Amino acid sequence: MPGTIAMSPPPGECAQCWRHAYDREVHAHLGWREDCPECVDHMVTGHPPHLIVPGRRGWW
Ligand SMILES: [Zn+2]
Ligand SMILES: [Zn+2]
Repeated sequence: MPGTIAMSPPPGECAQCWRHAYDREVHAHLGWREDCPECVDHMVTGHPPHLIVPGRRGWW
């Protein structure tokens, strides 16, 4: 896996926030210093359970 960045969110992460963080095109329509409503919504109300990627990384 050297040098390879998987473009799918890891288990336990919020799929939306992960995508917004790694895919710049998601925020491409936003103006300079303009907040993303979806990101703000997750920061304020939290991440909906259905957006959390299922599975665990096996460190338990
Ligand atoms: Zn989120
Ligand atoms: Zn966003």
